[in-house]
Amino acid sequence: MKAIVDKQRCTVCGVCSEACPMGAISLRENGIEISDDCSLCGICVDTCEFGALSLPEVGQGPSEDPSSYRGVWVYAEWREGKVHAVSHELLSAGRILADKRGVELGAVLLGSGIDDRVAEELIAYGAEVVYVIDHPELAHFTDERYSKCIVELVGRKRPEIFLAGATSMGRSFIPRVAAGLRTGLTADCTELDIADDGHLLQTRPAFGGNVMATIICPNRRPQMATVRPKVMKPVRLQGRKGRIERVDLPAECFKARVEVLEVIAEQDRTAKLTEADVIVSGGRGLRSAENFSLIENLAQLMNGAVGASRGAVEEGWMAPSHQVGQTGRTVAPTLYVAVGISGAVQHLVGMQGSEVIVAVNKDPSAPIFDVATYGVVADLFEFIPEFTKRIKREREG
Ligand SMILES: Cc1cc2nc3c(=O)[nH]c(=O)nc-3n(C[C@H](O)[C@H](O)[C@H](O)COP(=O)(O)OP(=O)(O)OC[C@H]3O[C@@H](n4cnc5c(N)ncnc54)[C@H](O)[C@@H]3O)c2cc1C
Repeated sequence: MKAIVDKQRCTVCGVCSEACPMGAISLRENGIEISDDCSLCGICVDTCEFGALSLPEVGQGPSEDPSSYRGVWVYAEWREGKVHAVSHELLSAGRILADKRGVELGAVLLGSGIDDRVAEELIAYGAEVVYVIDHPELAHFTDERYSKCIVELVGRKRPEIFLAGATSMGRSFIPRVAAGLRTGLTADCTELDIADDGHLLQTRPAFGGNVMATIICPNRRPQMATVRPKVMKPVRLQGRKGRIERVDLPAECFKARVEVLEVIAEQDRTAKLTEADVIVSGGRGLRSAENFSLIENLAQLMNGAVGASRGAVEEGWMAPSHQVGQTGRTVAPTLYVAVGISGAVQHLVGMQGSEVIVAVNKDPSAPIFDVATYGVVADLFEFIPEFTKRIKREREG
């Protein structure tokens, strides 16, 4: 979609072309031309004194009857023979939404060589039906094939809600699914609910985490949302009943322009940040990349992963994959140790679900202490080496 030109009114004066921040407007002999770079920002509309430009109307009403869509679906992320924990979390959240709507809860599982036991496990987490698309071309994840398969299946079965994990896989291909279905997508939700009128209430932080925005998708279906791992709690119940439907899709769905030649497992142990039971995170208080060895030693001793604040990442002391927080990873380990981290709200949203939080900071008024289970007011360069030594001694003793 792009801005619309009324050729009768356009004088080709060029003002809009100069004003367009996207450089999307070119002047031609017989009028102006708007390219696909148009972002519909509307600046050209405001600058045109002849009223020759307008924006297409969007969100003016449902393209089809939303009530013809029924059911809540969860994308079950399956990789290397395992379902990602976020899919269990989402099924448990989806179970509540489906019960409120009085509809079926479905899971969609894509891959190659999928055993029925994988699908049965999804039933234990609340799915009443598991759609399995099992095809050799799905052995390795590719955005194109995975999104085509889901678009095709959703088109056939028409669920009203579609949820997926905001994992690297989900972030990569779920927007493509939403675009393919011509519907909206709310990324990184922290809360989901159903309104009285049946709309999915999709709540997520906005404006730098300073407000929580609740978003609805009134006119298009399905209503799509992604949720970060560890935000929802998984509930597994024995004895739940459900059915498994193996689905055949047309060959077209498995065609892709990208081939995966080799998958190289990530060696970096901190890549497992979201699954770690113990995380020791460092902030700007560490003063240098070298000093992060204090954090690494402690993490290693506790068999944990190393996290970092954005402050430390911005200083270049840690790679962005270690960042915890709103624009990093959301974690909820059993133990989170925050060292030299002030506790900005953008950091807190990524770790406050941790079971026990220990904060080490020399400033007693640092906001990190507001969420800490145990607070240590100390100079980290004195405390951390002593604390590490003490743990070592106790282990040896
Ligand atoms: C849109 C947006 C998204 C963001 N996303 C994230 C995010 O995902 N994650 C994130 O972390 N931040 C994020 N931020 C940045 C965030 O607002 C903070 O700037 C950042 O978290 C600060 O990092 P810090 O706590 O390490 O540094 P600082 O705020 O500088 O805090 C350093 C702390 O170390 C303490 N200290 C200093 N020396 C010592 C010592 N010797 N011993 C003990 N304590 C000491 C100080 O008292 C201080 O409290 C985001 C910001 C924006 C605007």
